[in-house]
Amino acid sequence: MPRLTHPTDDDTVSARVQNAIDQSGRSVDAIAADSGIPAKVLKAYLRRERSWRVTAIVTVALVLDVSPLDMFGAPEWIDIYCSGCGQLVGRAHAPAPTVSIQCRDCRERDA
Ligand SMILES: [Zn+2]
Repeated sequence: MPRLTHPTDDDTVSARVQNAIDQSGRSVDAIAADSGIPAKVLKAYLRRERSWRVTAIVTVALVLDVSPLDMFGAPEWIDIYCSGCGQLVGRAHAPAPTVSIQCRDCRERDA
């Protein structure tokens, strides 16, 4: 079962889920019951005593009617390098595009 590995990721997720629960106006126990997650487990996630399971994040987000992606941290950015000379061309959200990208110099040289 995948787990988030970086401690700050868990902090971010806990803060975001807690905020979403607060905004829902519902109790943690009610969210836990609807999520099928034992309340003591959900509370341990929220207190950062337990490392979040991805499935728990997604399930709780769906119960709260928020996007699971919003519960995760900021999207990961990938540096894109020129396939010709290797210089940094730009950045994109992960996953990186699978096409090869060339910088202007390489495109003009090859033209
Ligand atoms: Zn280049």
